[in-house]
Amino acid sequence: MAENVCTKVVANDLCSGCGICAGVCPQKTLSIQWNTYGEYSAVDQHNRCAENCTMCLQVCPFSSQAENEDVIAKPLFSDIPGIQHRSETGYYLDSYVGYSNIQNHRLNGASGGLTTWTLETLLEKDHINYAICVSSSSEREKLFTYTVCSTSEQIRACAKSCYYPVELSEVIHHILLCEGRYAVVGLPCFIKSLRLAMQKNRILRERIKYLLGLVCGQQKGKMFSEFVPTLKQVNPKNLISIQFRAKIPQKPASDYGLMYRYKDERGQNNEGLVSWTEGMDQAWCARYFTLNACNYCDDVFAELADAVFMDAWLPAYSSDWRGTSIILVRNPDIRKLLENGKAAKELCLDTISPEQVVFSQAGVVHSKREILAKRLTWASKNKRMVIPKRVKPSRLGIMDRLFITTENATMKQSKLLFSIMKEREYFRVTEFFRQMKSNMWVSKMVYMIICKLKHVKQKILS
Ligand SMILES: Cc1cc2nc3c(=O)[nH]c(=O)nc-3n(C[C@H](O)[C@H](O)[C@H](O)COP(=O)(O)OP(=O)(O)OC[C@H]3O[C@@H](n4cnc5c(N)ncnc54)[C@H](O)[C@@H]3O)c2cc1C
Repeated sequence: MAENVCTKVVANDLCSGCGICAGVCPQKTLSIQWNTYGEYSAVDQHNRCAENCTMCLQVCPFSSQAENEDVIAKPLFSDIPGIQHRSETGYYLDSYVGYSNIQNHRLNGASGGLTTWTLETLLEKDHINYAICVSSSSEREKLFTYTVCSTSEQIRACAKSCYYPVELSEVIHHILLCEGRYAVVGLPCFIKSLRLAMQKNRILRERIKYLLGLVCGQQKGKMFSEFVPTLKQVNPKNLISIQFRAKIPQKPASDYGLMYRYKDERGQNNEGLVSWTEGMDQAWCARYFTLNACNYCDDVFAELADAVFMDAWLPAYSSDWRGTSIILVRNPDIRKLLENGKAAKELCLDTISPEQVVFSQAGVVHSKREILAKRLTWASKNKRMVIPKRVKPSRLGIMDRLFITTENATMKQSKLLFSIMKEREYFRVTEFFRQMKSNMWVSKMVYMIICKLKHVKQKILS
């Protein structure tokens, strides 16, 4: 059997569906397809991959062949005058907090609209010809997709965060075919894969000029978007479209909403909104529909991007419903762009300390450091494939085991249950929660019994 991402990464449930392997596959045998749980993963459809070229493994962010972020970042950033490094953030030149004053960037953006401003400015100042970001799509089975934008209007239409699977295979084909200078926006694992692909492929290296990262806590499968409207009794079958990060006046920025359009019982188009505190928070934080690969990621701040954008989750900013962004900059060109934007009053921007930047993402840092260290121990004890990480495995206490097993069970149960229940004519969210609860109890009880038995066995042996 050929050694490729399907046999080494997908088979171990570690694919994040970025699509770059399929984009650079020299034999064009890989494609990106939906799995049963609404997640993208690489597929070698006709088992045609026979040459063992391993190109896909060399560009995969979750392959054990890939170098870590520290190694890849060093030649990119370490010689830039004034650059500094922290273990949580990777390299950084400067960090800022603020928002765009241009038109509706801020109100239409996920946080302060600074990503859209940066892409538009790169295009307007002729640093790039194309910006590659994520837009909504009219396909029922694919509500969002990566798009190549050549105008400011197109970039603006792509604003807001998309907590929905997207993949880059077609975009990679586009870049390889069409000459030009490109900027790409992506999550940390996508940016890592792009950097690896740029190392291998001269055309990608020459044409991709800027990589803009987004801080990422976790990626969700598409069931997350189908599930959230069910909190307002919308049948997932009737969903037409969704929009993340709706801003709700007078509420804190952190209590944003998901807007959805759906067909009601009379066949009429209708719309609604679920806010973060109306149940989306539970589905997010308990890791419903989260990709397993995300459990093994140690990159919070897209360490290989030229700049990384995030929400200003700090008390001084998060109460403002209009949203505020933080940027950590690594590329001097982008820093100059931001400083010029500030001088021209296009941006309202203050410097912020790197400590504050890290503090704004305290939960994600904890998850991708301390919890990851325990997950690595858990994975090796449970005979799962363990990919090399910069975080070292740490001691696993009984409470840690319980926490990890419960979290894993929630993740799996949510996908399994929802995939079955959403096919029913009537979807009852109360029934979903009831079954989740009872299944969780079963897995907790089974786990407790196993622990008890192990404890007894150890006592007997000693
Ligand atoms: C899955 C996910 C998890 C995130 N987790 C965190 C977190 O834990 N903490 C935090 O502070 N911030 C997180 N972010 C980033 C945050 O939601 C905002 O994207 C960021 O603050 C930029 O806001 P903005 O107003 O500057 O962006 P905008 O001006 O609204 O522009 C956002 C740009 O990002 C592009 N984009 C949106 N979604 C995606 C995607 N999935 N992949 C690639 N490009 C995309 C859009 O097309 C647009 O060009 C996450 C984003 C995503 C997509």
